[in-house]
Amino acid sequence: MKSTVLIIEDNEQNMYLLKFLLERNGYQIIQAFHGREGIEKVKQLKPALILLDIQLPGMNGYDVARELKKSSNFNMIPIVAVTSYAMPGDREKAMEAGCVGYIEKPINPETFISEFEKFISDCSLDGEC
Ligand code: MN
Repeated sequence: MKSTVLIIEDNEQNMYLLKFLLERNGYQIIQAFHGREGIEKVKQLKPALILLDIQLPGMNGYDVARELKKSSNFNMIPIVAVTSYAMPGDREKAMEAGCVGYIEKPINPETFISEFEKFISDCSLDGEC
């Protein structure tokens, strides 16, 4: 069985598309619609990888990543930022917050899985990147 992926995304359409593409490729999906819910689900369900929207209501994605990276129980779980921010420096900001990489929105259904699987193969499932 393929890995369990937690998607933290507040936009229903993006959530639907990410879930659809990943499930079609055999992944198990956990959903969270804001940062706090995402952190709770990480603690309860220990996903193998986290897809993290940056623009979230309340706590933004950078803060979610920083909080998870502070926890010795969860800081090994790879986090991939998914965001439409195209400003110079945002990639660096995501990396500084502890993300292993970055997938740009809008999600391209043709290329998303291959982009995503780069992170799965780059990061062994015990979290070594
Ligand atoms: Mn968002």
